[in-house]
Amino acid sequence: MNIYTSEQKEIANKIGDNYQISSWRDWKWQIRHSVRDVKTFEHLLGVTFTEDEINDVEETLRKFPLSITPYYLSLIDKNNYATDPIFRQSFPSPSELVVSQCDHADPLHEEADSPAPGITHRYPDRVLFHISNVCSMYCRHCTRKRKVGDVDSIPDREEINKGLDYIRQTPVIRDVLLSGGDPLMLSDEYLDWILTELRTIPHVQVVRIGTRMPVVLPYRITDSLIEVFKKHHPIWINTHFNHPREITPSAKESLAKLANAGIPLGNQTVLLAGINDCPHIIKALVQKLVENRVRPYYLYQCDLSEGLSHFRTTVGKGMEIMESLIGHTSGFAVPTYVIDAPGGGGKIPVMPNYLITLATNKVVLRNYEGVITSYQEPDSYEPVFCDRNCADCKLHLNLDGAEEYEGIGIMRLLADHDDTISLTPEDNDRMKRRNNA
Ligand SMILES: *Cc1c(COP(=O)(O)O)cnc(C)c1O
Repeated sequence: MNIYTSEQKEIANKIGDNYQISSWRDWKWQIRHSVRDVKTFEHLLGVTFTEDEINDVEETLRKFPLSITPYYLSLIDKNNYATDPIFRQSFPSPSELVVSQCDHADPLHEEADSPAPGITHRYPDRVLFHISNVCSMYCRHCTRKRKVGDVDSIPDREEINKGLDYIRQTPVIRDVLLSGGDPLMLSDEYLDWILTELRTIPHVQVVRIGTRMPVVLPYRITDSLIEVFKKHHPIWINTHFNHPREITPSAKESLAKLANAGIPLGNQTVLLAGINDCPHIIKALVQKLVENRVRPYYLYQCDLSEGLSHFRTTVGKGMEIMESLIGHTSGFAVPTYVIDAPGGGGKIPVMPNYLITLATNKVVLRNYEGVITSYQEPDSYEPVFCDRNCADCKLHLNLDGAEEYEGIGIMRLLADHDDTISLTPEDNDRMKRRNNA
């Protein structure tokens, strides 16, 4: 079986370093040879940037460093690299230096909501636990850009212990989300230690891990890592695919290993201008994800972090994408579109409106096709907030003498005297199928 593409072979040969056929799939080899400067990037990809381009990028690098694994680099289409989604997620752009008025270093106030080192406690029953400051690849759209390359180290046991103590002393926490950086940058032994400690805390029911390894370094999902996870179930993993091109044979293999180990897999996508802001791309992505047993979890509106303004889309674009998914594809392939509230309010789900209007006992809705329908609510429902003291009720229901009128359009759906149950556009495809049957 040929497990390498010609691009991968070419890159591996250029890296040299006693390169052997097995090196490519060795995650430590990949990290050791992560590309951290523009010259090496050019050389390994086999492209030439202009001097102006290089100067611009060098300036960006002084603020936000570059790092990409040889694997992820090998996915770039070098003949069309400027518009390539993998290139755009990994290669610095001078636009990152543009600071707009709404930008913040920490828009989500993660530091303000931090009661202990590495802990963000925002929601009542769960915490985010940052156990690594590093990643194998620096995403240009990182929401924690302020921290990238800051402390190029793994927090020591003393630091981690402070976070563990907080979790231990806070019985409302039933769900711990390991994040970073990328938690899978830690060694198997270190992860095993953290997971073992968490498992000794009776109120911690689930542990989640957020990692981009299946996307940028799938070889990190080794058999020995799987053995560690299996010891500490229930473990849930959320990964971060943004584009269908990232779902390669190697990525699929890593996802299959995780799923076969009984780990429920989710995916968080960030909506990114020029990368995936298209209903066709997102639909192809979510369908490929479920094919690989990954449930699309969140579609994020791009945060207001500094240096991300060129990646932001309007919320309308996200809405258009959700409109193209709901009803049009498997329900479990549809993520929840969220805006993470600036100021630390947490994730706010947003979606197109399906509820058109309401009357006392009727709801008027529309579906993905544009069909407008009504749902008759129960007449017998007794609202719990009413004290039922009707004799003393101040409402006067005598409508004698009110004008009579013929309902049209949506009013017909709302009226009790009309039997219409839905308004269907004349050229509705589904109705045509029904009529032809
Ligand atoms: C996203 C997030 C969580 C987890 O939220 P879920 O909706 O449960 O996935 C927890 N804490 C913080 C700070 C978060 O940003």
